[in-house]
Amino acid sequence: MSLLYWILILNLSILQASPSPVASRTLLSDNDGGGSSDPKVYAVELNATNFDGVLNNTSATYAIVEFYAHWCPACRNYKPHYEKVARLFNGPEAVNPGIILMTRIDCALKINTKLCDKFSVSHYPMLFWGPTKEFVSTTGWEPNQAKSEICIIDNGRTAERLVNWINNQIGSSYSLDDENIENKQLIQAKPSDPEQIAVPDYVLVKPSPTSVDMSIILENKMIKWARATSSQAGSRTVLREIGSDSGGGGGGGEPKDFAVELNTTNFDGVLKDTPATYAIVEFFANWCPACRNYKPHYEKVARLFNGPDAVHPGNILMTRVDCALKINNKLCDKFSVSHYPMLFWSQPVKFVNAGWEPNQAKSDIRVIDDGRTAERLLNWINKQIGSSYGLDDQKFENEQLPSNISDPGQIARAVYDVEEATATAFDIILEHKMIKSETRASLVKFLQLIVAHHPSRRCRKGSAEVLVNFDDLCPPDMLSSDTHEVATSNVKGALRNFQICGKEVPRGYWMFCRGSKNETRGFSCGLWVLMHSLSVRIEDGESQFAFTAICDFIHNFFVCEECRQHFYKMCSSVTSPFNKARDFALWLWSTHNNVNERLQKEEASLQTGDPKFPKIIWPPRQLCPSCYRSQKDKGSSQIDWNQDEVYKFLISYYGKTLVSLYKEKGLLADDGTSATLDDLVTSTNAVVVPVGAALAIALASCAFGALACYWRSQQKNRKYYHQLHSLKNI
Ligand SMILES: Cc1cc2nc3c(=O)[nH]c(=O)nc-3n(C[C@H](O)[C@H](O)[C@H](O)COP(=O)(O)OP(=O)(O)OC[C@H]3O[C@@H](n4cnc5c(N)ncnc54)[C@H](O)[C@@H]3O)c2cc1C
Repeated sequence: MSLLYWILILNLSILQASPSPVASRTLLSDNDGGGSSDPKVYAVELNATNFDGVLNNTSATYAIVEFYAHWCPACRNYKPHYEKVARLFNGPEAVNPGIILMTRIDCALKINTKLCDKFSVSHYPMLFWGPTKEFVSTTGWEPNQAKSEICIIDNGRTAERLVNWINNQIGSSYSLDDENIENKQLIQAKPSDPEQIAVPDYVLVKPSPTSVDMSIILENKMIKWARATSSQAGSRTVLREIGSDSGGGGGGGEPKDFAVELNTTNFDGVLKDTPATYAIVEFFANWCPACRNYKPHYEKVARLFNGPDAVHPGNILMTRVDCALKINNKLCDKFSVSHYPMLFWSQPVKFVNAGWEPNQAKSDIRVIDDGRTAERLLNWINKQIGSSYGLDDQKFENEQLPSNISDPGQIARAVYDVEEATATAFDIILEHKMIKSETRASLVKFLQLIVAHHPSRRCRKGSAEVLVNFDDLCPPDMLSSDTHEVATSNVKGALRNFQICGKEVPRGYWMFCRGSKNETRGFSCGLWVLMHSLSVRIEDGESQFAFTAICDFIHNFFVCEECRQHFYKMCSSVTSPFNKARDFALWLWSTHNNVNERLQKEEASLQTGDPKFPKIIWPPRQLCPSCYRSQKDKGSSQIDWNQDEVYKFLISYYGKTLVSLYKEKGLLADDGTSATLDDLVTSTNAVVVPVGAALAIALASCAFGALACYWRSQQKNRKYYHQLHSLKNI
């Protein structure tokens, strides 16, 4: 990454983050206080590592698996609905425990890609139902599968509907109002019950296989459970919640556990299945005071690598084994554990069926000899793998950025988000193998649009490269062949080599679109900004093309189900074609405001919005006073907009201002001259994409005429770099 780029970002962050000390103080105190603690989470977060283990070992007969993406706004709004139902079946106060296990998987995490692929996840959220064990034994699920015990829940968009669906499915009569009386009585009313005593905070009374459940739930930082079973009392199960979420007495709450607790039963399984590149195993004893003191250090490092909110997921799996438990004796012996805590490092599979001895000549497993504090442990890791992890690393690093919506200068950072949104969209398309015979044309169309009008020069260049090679990489006949699976994998592999916005695109660095809470803004915000910035760059003659390109793209490739459906409905309600760029830009603006208006209510009632970025009818008066003709502005429908002013404002905001701070080494033209601002702003492809884009567009499809085909066949004989050369001015 160019130094210049990061200096720029740093400057921007500082500039934007510190307009006044008061502002930043307010922001901090808002974050700290407010108290708006998230509601309880009942659904169990699964991932590629624990999926089989949890589903194999749960006592529930059925499972519901919700495939979602953390960036998907509709999934966020759906979560309270799903949790309302999960409350009935999961957790210590479950009304009906042991019947249905409600789970979820974040398909936006790379480690879960294969798993989501296995279930042909085509949109978010997507809910599956089936016997629990079937989820493990199945080789996968496909839309047109003749017979499968796993099925899609096609009518579960609200909590009520989901419960109804379940009731229809298994002939039950669950209701959202069901309350658990029995369990409460068990837990609260019988303090002298022998089943309840001596259940220390986190002890496996029933060792295997529940132990797997236990560690997995711990890993996911969901709820900590103690499960005590009585062999005498007719296997009545007492569930007790102990975790930090429980509130318990006196706030504070126990710190979260991130390291995965292993034992003889799950040791090999977890280490064999983890997608992590490395693993650390800490051997400790629960009675050892030094181990207890070391735990916060170990957890501080584990926070970076383990769990759904890991800052660096998939790199290192951090685990621990309690050698004081009898069941682990052999395991600890195998590793010649001579003192506590004792830490080992290796690739996860190397731990499987292996052991360690002090004087072993050669071993893949190493003792970590300098990890007595969190800092030292992380230093040791950094040295080992040449990384530069820091204990303060955060998943989102810019949370202190102000959300000053009336500052027009903020949009100047959004060009990086537009790049990131473009790259993310392309990634999702490939990951989900969404290029099919029926969607191919709409992708080509969208690529044509961004080749000509993307505000980022490197995205125009990158998309042109994709477009030029598209027919070769993704021939239409390949997609309609019988070997569809093979074909789509090949396409994915081939297109992977192309980086649609170059290799220096920031990832996970949403600047303008950064939410104050994780997962609230990001990608979908970036996508809107991309569409608006395209809408102000097109020519009149391209307005209908841009409209269909954007509508079809969202319809086919925006996997947020609710979003794409609503948006497409609004597209479909347009009756006459657009002739003017102004009309299309204003249509997009008012469509976005319709979405804002709808979400305003939804987010307020479900509390799923970002508190610092509530939905508003946009642009607010502070941002564009002249856009408002009158004073009354309750909801977009009642605002008397001055549409000429709105259009003028859109052009300036998403045109010049958007790219005003965009400077990048990658923008230097090949002759060494710097790309001018006009290059980035101009709304005509005559300047921005002189011959290159026109050729690229023609090249992408022979439907553009025999001339293009002839030209293309000529070019095919030339070297690839020659083709690129012809695009260098794009
Ligand atoms: C096509 C599409 C459809 C969607 N449908 C849904 C849905 O059905 N349900 C759901 O929960 N979420 C939906 N979303 C997501 C949702 O609209 C937001 O993107 C998301 O909640 C993040 O909100 P945000 O605060 O970042 O602002 P966004 O709404 O993402 O807006 C991004 C930025 O654009 C600017 N802006 C806001 N309004 C306008 C406007 N009218 N014209 C021009 N610029 C504007 C503002 O500066 C704002 O910060 C959809 C997203 C897209 C791209």
